[in-house]
Amino acid sequence: MTPGALTDAHVLVTGGAGFLGSTLCESLLASGARVTCVDDESTGSAANVVAAARIPRFRLVIADVSDLDAADARGGHGRIDVLIHLAATASPVHYLRMPVHTLRSGSAGTMRALELAAEDDARFVLASTSEVYGDAEVTPQPEEYWGNVNPIGPRAVYDESKRFSEAATFAFRRSRDLDVGVVRIFNTYGPRMALDDGRVVTTFLAQAWRGEPLTVQGDGSQTRSFCYVDDTVRALVAMATADEPGPVNVGNPHEITMLELAEQVLKATGSHSEVVHVDLPQDDPARRCPDITRAMETLGWKPEVDLEDGLARTAAWVRDQINGAAPPTGP
Ligand code: UDP
Repeated sequence: MTPGALTDAHVLVTGGAGFLGSTLCESLLASGARVTCVDDESTGSAANVVAAARIPRFRLVIADVSDLDAADARGGHGRIDVLIHLAATASPVHYLRMPVHTLRSGSAGTMRALELAAEDDARFVLASTSEVYGDAEVTPQPEEYWGNVNPIGPRAVYDESKRFSEAATFAFRRSRDLDVGVVRIFNTYGPRMALDDGRVVTTFLAQAWRGEPLTVQGDGSQTRSFCYVDDTVRALVAMATADEPGPVNVGNPHEITMLELAEQVLKATGSHSEVVHVDLPQDDPARRCPDITRAMETLGWKPEVDLEDGLARTAAWVRDQINGAAPPTGP
């Protein structure tokens, strides 16, 4: 990435008050960008951007992207240079509870974000997901793999809305010559991840600190590859200024089973919680591991924080949340 490429650029981040979005906003501000954060607070929270909001180059717009007004999107920052579209209902707990909302924001929200980017001739970065691969039949998953998604299963509302978003993004590239970059984000974890949204890393950490049993779904042999939030954000920032349409996998290729994760969480917290087995949700992918060759070649990116280190940092944050003494994070 060209140093200084984002200095004074107007970057609009949809879903900017979420776990990933708020960390991204802080990184963009540190790069000298002027940042507009758009969030409807359905799963994100203005509390995540309290530190960012102390910087005058930061604007927060509480709105649903699906009907985001162009004047509100630009505000005092004017024409948008880069639009990074993160807004989505990304946690299984939330998208299973709000299936129609998930489909609407994934489709109408993405179309509106694309229109706004096209109007301003901005670069459009889509935060897609490893879920486009569904219950993958190949591992690790390269970008050329088209996926194995059950279109009528419960997870389809998220998976298919992201597949639609990728199709829409490439349609704008073909028909409107929009400058686009698609990243497929694999499981990401770190501070600010909501403790109650069912995601496995924070669920296990909270259970461990509370001395509750760790709930491994199924036999725990299913795998995931966990990328620390700062690494994922570095990839998003690189994509914001790259001359690369993607799709590009962004994730940590270190693949572990959920049983192994439970053991690592017990080690990181020093907890003596027991491990119990509960039902495996329908369509839960058996294996997930990114092939990141393309990210290394096109973005010069690879993850730097290993699981032990990332888990230690996240464990400390979860403990502070539980104790009600979370220190403010951010720049
Ligand atoms: N999981 C688990 N216990 C939990 C929550 C999740 O064993 O309390 C498993 C889940 O079945 C899945 C993996 O952890 O195989 C990752 O789930 P998560 O919801 O974090 O993300 P996903 O990759 O499924 O979107």
